[in-house]
Amino acid sequence: MSLLEVDSIDAYYGQSHILRDLSMEIADGEVCALLGRNGAGKTTTLRSIAGAAPPDVRDGEIRFEGKTIAGRPTEDVSMSGIGLVPEERRIFPNLTVEENLHLAEVSRNRSNLVGRALGQVNEARPLQEMYDAFPRLDERQNQMAGTLSGGEQQMLAIARALRQNPKLLMLDEPYEGLAPKIIEDVEDAIRRISEEGTTVLLVEQNAAAAIKIAERCYIVDQGSIVYEGHSEDLREDEETRQRYLGV
Ligand code: ATP
Repeated sequence: MSLLEVDSIDAYYGQSHILRDLSMEIADGEVCALLGRNGAGKTTTLRSIAGAAPPDVRDGEIRFEGKTIAGRPTEDVSMSGIGLVPEERRIFPNLTVEENLHLAEVSRNRSNLVGRALGQVNEARPLQEMYDAFPRLDERQNQMAGTLSGGEQQMLAIARALRQNPKLLMLDEPYEGLAPKIIEDVEDAIRRISEEGTTVLLVEQNAAAAIKIAERCYIVDQGSIVYEGHSEDLREDEETRQRYLGV
């Protein structure tokens, strides 16, 4: 069974029909990439899965571990084990690294108050695990998050999402604005997360970088999936890359 099944969804911003009959599946344990040009619908797909509104998902089904999540509030979706690192990272610049990481715990504990009543609890992962995984954050525990470099801020955003102990971690353009050397550090972090058993959905415009770590890729164009295949096949398929990704 797939961990995540997105089944023929249609999503709208007001009257604008953005996602059209979009379907994709993610297997437990894989690293999967969702590629596409600017404005193709990548972020809208992630927001639809995460239960963020807008967009408004009007048709189709989204199932996680076989259970319907479409239409559920974003906090419920997070509790069920889906984490999202948004493109804009949304860290708190005037709080320290440690305070940012504590907020993830507070938010998880608050959700667990409700979760206990429903028999659904997902404890936050220990802070020390995050520092072990991200030594650069360990060295900067008391630094204001707003003064971190772009790469360090991305690490902090990933660590904060990981504290919530997701089964599926969705990353929206994690390499954006980062220098090549720092991209390698973020890639290493994503590989480690995957090796530890977390399933990853990586959304990227940077197809070459995504293909390096994803086993399988989807391409979205004008709100629909136009390609699905193994990364090696896409690497060899110049025509598809030219047509939909312009590379
Ligand atoms: P990018 O790489 O530029 O972020 P994307 O593939 O993630 O692109 P989306 O952000 O999903 O693209 O946008 C898909 C379409 O939806 C675009 O035409 C965009 O203008 C439109 N759109 C996105 N957010 C909104 C919104 N809040 N209201 C109206 N239209 C929106």
